[in-house]
Amino acid sequence: MRVLIGGGSGFVGRELTRLLKAKGHEVTVISRQPGPGKITWSELESRGLPPCEGAVNLAGENLMNPLRWWNESYKKDLFSSRIDTTKTLAQAIADSPSPPHSWVLVSGVACYKPCMTAEYTEDSEWTPFDLLSKLVKEWEASALLPENLATTTKQVVIRPGAVLGRDGGAMKQMWLPFWLGLGGTLGSGRQPFPWIHVSDLAGIIAHSLEPSAETPPPSQQVFNGVAPALNTNYEFTKELGRVMRRPTIFPVPGFAMNAMLGSERAVVLTQGQKVIPKRTLEAGFQYKYPDLTSALKEIIGS
Ligand code: NDP
Repeated sequence: MRVLIGGGSGFVGRELTRLLKAKGHEVTVISRQPGPGKITWSELESRGLPPCEGAVNLAGENLMNPLRWWNESYKKDLFSSRIDTTKTLAQAIADSPSPPHSWVLVSGVACYKPCMTAEYTEDSEWTPFDLLSKLVKEWEASALLPENLATTTKQVVIRPGAVLGRDGGAMKQMWLPFWLGLGGTLGSGRQPFPWIHVSDLAGIIAHSLEPSAETPPPSQQVFNGVAPALNTNYEFTKELGRVMRRPTIFPVPGFAMNAMLGSERAVVLTQGQKVIPKRTLEAGFQYKYPDLTSALKEIIGS
């Protein structure tokens, strides 16, 4: 299968590319920069969709970009980098004389309202309640294909929690403070911490790219991209400290996180949701790293 991956040069995209190539598939990345194995977003707009059987969008300004101050321009880029690229790819699919059989968008669990008790599955109803949930709403809406493609193209949305892996994401930023023995719980530590190992997220995306067994294919089917283990921030912190053999005695209070990151963004760390991958499990996906110990051991390499 030929797969086109918007934002495929990033943390998740590199893992997905490795996995797809290992399975014998061909990958073309859509990027802001030209290069081997890549096309640019403007080439996609001007020349149309290259021949492909699967398309994925992973592009987006990093939510935790350490080089940027949390301000209106950053927030605007968070929205436009996701929504504009998703619209461009969806439009190219809609205009293509031979559209792919699968179109996958990776969004996030920020659509589910943080709560200590509620358990969210893919069937849970939700309405936007803050900046990031509004982002998810607009982002997922921008991926919808016109009705006439309902019979040809399977549409999938995957909502991951914090993606854990060696080469990027949250772990890349947490590794040094934890290694220095400065790691600790965030906020109360009691908040749920939905997470997934990057290799499992790549596996769920690859699984979603397979042609649909149903005719017509489901319209925008959602999969929660989280590990089945439900953990709190406290459990994550203590397990990371244990695997790294480092103390974790320096909690970071919620107000300090809000001051450092801006409260609209800090919410992803200081609050959380219990997210259940109900449909992901029902679809038969086998996790390589279903629990924190196995995931963190693989990442830390002990
Ligand atoms: P990355 O931060 O690695 O970014 C992916 C790619 O997006 C980059 O390689 C870059 O490609 C492109 N990109 C970055 N900034 C912009 C911009 N301003 N405009 C257009 N394109 C841009 O993302 P991840 O791989 O970590 O995540 C993939 C997707 O999954 C993202 O949409 C993210 O929101 C979502 N997600 C990630 C989580 C995580 O923990 N990592 C958690 C939940 C959701 P290039 O430079 O080649 O153009």
